[in-house]
Amino acid sequence: MSTAPSVFLSVVIPVYNEALNLPMLFDRLYPVLDGLGRTYEVIFTNDGSADRSFELLQARHAARPDVTRVIDFNTNYGQHMAIMAAFERVRGEVIVTLDADLQNPPEEIPKLLEKMAAGHDYVGGYRLNRQDSFFRTYASKLINFVREKTTNIEMTDQGCMLRAYRRPVIEAIVRSGAINTFIPALAYSFSSNPAEVGVKHEERHAGVSNYSFYQLIRLNFDLITGFSLAPLQYFTMFAGLCAGGSLLLVLVLAYRRLFLGAEAEGIFTLFGILFFLISVVMVGIGLIGEYVGRTYQVVRARQRYFVREILETK
Ligand code: UDP
Ligand code: MG
Repeated sequence: MSTAPSVFLSVVIPVYNEALNLPMLFDRLYPVLDGLGRTYEVIFTNDGSADRSFELLQARHAARPDVTRVIDFNTNYGQHMAIMAAFERVRGEVIVTLDADLQNPPEEIPKLLEKMAAGHDYVGGYRLNRQDSFFRTYASKLINFVREKTTNIEMTDQGCMLRAYRRPVIEAIVRSGAINTFIPALAYSFSSNPAEVGVKHEERHAGVSNYSFYQLIRLNFDLITGFSLAPLQYFTMFAGLCAGGSLLLVLVLAYRRLFLGAEAEGIFTLFGILFFLISVVMVGIGLIGEYVGRTYQVVRARQRYFVREILETK
């Protein structure tokens, strides 16, 4: 990452199988940016798309080489890695992230910039009347709640990727070398004067969400374990309580055995308790695994993604 910004605005867009959306995105995004009257660049990261996305990006680069840059990954590394790769290369003083599927209308970018001009170093969007499935909307409300309780990150809508950052925040994110990362939360932890604005939300223009249920769970695990030790701590507390309860039970049983004699009826209750305790242990091991796995990835320090090609001028 070069140190001095050479343009005012960098717009960062991860692209994964968005061939049906890109033409419309180009048509809507560039006029908005041209209308700002400031210097800008748009960086697309092609995150290993299997459709025609990269060809469309190439064509776009050919059409507007002055303001378009394209990073091409060799395979799919996920939305946040795609954004990271662009962050490492941005030339702007202000950086805006945007989804390629037009769920975040590009017309809302000036709104973010206005807020930035008011002196904030991070402006997060939150989606006004969200256009996602009932399930997605409520699952996301639930995870917002969990995040609020387990981390000290305050954010109305963590899932909204329409956000603006000042360069120092982005530089801090890049330096942190985070691997399993949740960019909005990481940015929040580095910013000193965050703000939020409501932005319109539209239905996906075409195609379906790239996130499966499983990936959403992974992402939220990254969010919670990446920013707090609370799950481990709660678990320890809970395990402590269970251990105390079990000990009490053992004492009661020992007392009954000594003074009332042998009794067989309680055997299934005992099994029940045993299974319960084993399941608690299993959850605990899994939880520790989440942290160990992440530690492993950081310690291993393997290159996080592989860039096949970069289309850019200069
Ligand atoms: N995306 C990506 N890599 C992935 C999945 C998604 O670069 O592995 C991009 C995708 O092209 C889009 C953005 O990330 O620009 C958000 O993805 P999507 O719309 O599928 O997520 P949702 O809006 O359902 O949360
Ligand atoms: Mg989307």
